[in-house]
Amino acid sequence: MSFQVFGIPVSRGVAIGRAVLVTSSRVDVAHYFITDEQVIAEIQRATQARDEVAQELEALKQDLPHDAPHELAALLDVHLMLLHDEALVGATRQWIVERHYNAEWALSAQLEVLARQFDEMEDDYLRERKADLEQVVERILSALAREQGRTPSDAASVVQRDFAGEDPLLLVAADIAPADMMQFKRSVFHGFITDIGGKTSHTAIVARSMDIPAVVGTREASRLIRQDDWVIIDGDAGAVIVNPSPIMLEEYRFRQRQSELERARLARLRHTPAVTLDGEKVALHANIELPADATAAIDAGATGVGLFRSEFLFMNREGELPDEEEQFLAYRAAVEAMRGLPVTIRTVDVGADKPLDRMSASELRHEHVLNPAMGLRAIRWSLSEPSMFRQQLRAIYRASAFGKVRVLIPMVAHLGEMRQIQESLKKVQQQLTDAGRAFTKVDLGVMIEIPAAALMLPLLLPYVDFVSIGTNDLIQYTLAIDRADEAVAHLYDPWHPAVLHLLATTIAQARAADKSVSVCGEMAGDPLFTDLLLAMGLRSFSMHPSQIPSVKQRVLRADASRLARLLPDLAASEDPQAAVEAAFSAVRRNH
Ligand code: PEP
Ligand code: MG
Repeated sequence: MSFQVFGIPVSRGVAIGRAVLVTSSRVDVAHYFITDEQVIAEIQRATQARDEVAQELEALKQDLPHDAPHELAALLDVHLMLLHDEALVGATRQWIVERHYNAEWALSAQLEVLARQFDEMEDDYLRERKADLEQVVERILSALAREQGRTPSDAASVVQRDFAGEDPLLLVAADIAPADMMQFKRSVFHGFITDIGGKTSHTAIVARSMDIPAVVGTREASRLIRQDDWVIIDGDAGAVIVNPSPIMLEEYRFRQRQSELERARLARLRHTPAVTLDGEKVALHANIELPADATAAIDAGATGVGLFRSEFLFMNREGELPDEEEQFLAYRAAVEAMRGLPVTIRTVDVGADKPLDRMSASELRHEHVLNPAMGLRAIRWSLSEPSMFRQQLRAIYRASAFGKVRVLIPMVAHLGEMRQIQESLKKVQQQLTDAGRAFTKVDLGVMIEIPAAALMLPLLLPYVDFVSIGTNDLIQYTLAIDRADEAVAHLYDPWHPAVLHLLATTIAQARAADKSVSVCGEMAGDPLFTDLLLAMGLRSFSMHPSQIPSVKQRVLRADASRLARLLPDLAASEDPQAAVEAAFSAVRRNH
């Protein structure tokens, strides 16, 4: 039966494929395709792991003390029975043979199918056997990981390769932590659907950076969609169509082809300099999460990196953070890949929806930090760990010997923080000089993402060389809307007069003080806002590489001085979006 689920569109385009349901606890299971020749060996891997678990369970049964409760032996029998059940064993084999899934993936795919069946059972006793099944599968997964000498999370980082000829796969999950999204970055999936999340949650941001269609905040997609269902993701409308009719499929395939053609057309702008009709040069920089993303930045024609979210190097490390050398090598790799173009490295911005250890959004909500978005995150965390902060600064400074490096500080709210940062910078430069390490001038920038920072900008400016406006957080904190919470996503409004007022004054004040100013939040990559930001005087934008071509097209068609003259008084307007559109429509009609 065909049905639709609606959510929040976070990454544009159309994806058509089969659903792969992944529970949050199993995103760290490796998902990759095997080849025809590997099928037999993969089935053997699964069988061997199962036999190993059977031996473990038999041994446990033998070793039960005489006075052990009778239920314990009965439970082990249930586990042994489940272990050999054709519904698990045979169907897992089928996923391997028919879909070419690796053993771990096949096993967790079948677990999803069976878990649904258990959930639908009337009988309480039988329904509760789901937990037993999960434990049995967990044991087999551990045996598979042991056999390869890997932990489950190492296994997830196995290179995931596309297998020609297979149907495209779309990942469906209740929620995915940003760090887990990173593991899917070069994965087999062609689209994402999650129950949880808002437009600028970090999970959504990573999905956007992968340039594949995604819909978040669907609330119940992972409950309604079944393993292997055919699904269409409409990333423009935020709709998910499950088991579409042939007519629907045809219609979406047509749209898919159209957007591929449009993409190819825009890609031709790659080497065209971003200059407005009235000759204003505009910098279009890239936001990256890992050094390897610099390649996509160069390919898209970025003229620098405006935001390197360094925290992704720190996440999921199970307590062991990257040391100075590891960080230095990562920063240097990004700098070298950018071939002399500037690279803006943001100091670690963990906390809120980016915990250091793997944690899903729903787990985060139940964490005991009362209000993580307002807690010890970003620069507050760095300043509470001064030696770690200096270690990161040293790594950034050392990378400056290999190209143009800038350092950017997130979430600043107090001048006291700026003074502490300056002291750390001085100390680090001294330490590097004493150690005979090479470094060059590193410009210091501050992110404007807390209204307090925007309101006291003239006091902050003397401390910095440049400012970068983080609209994702600026909107969150100005409107008191959790950016990751789908329940209030409809109130997360970049067009709010207060947000636009802070943006306009920040750009104007920075320019008046002759400091360079850019926007690196999601607004910068949305062509809907390009004219508005140009009219406000912005000449530097930073966004996901995939967004550069369409923003560049808007820049090439804009007359910046005319737009500036037409800009209505945003603070006085009740509906700034309508006022801006009415004011700018005349300019658009002429082009
Ligand atoms: C922002 O807040 O706009 C920003 C760019 O930083 P992040 O999205 O990583 O919080
Ligand atoms: Mg931010």
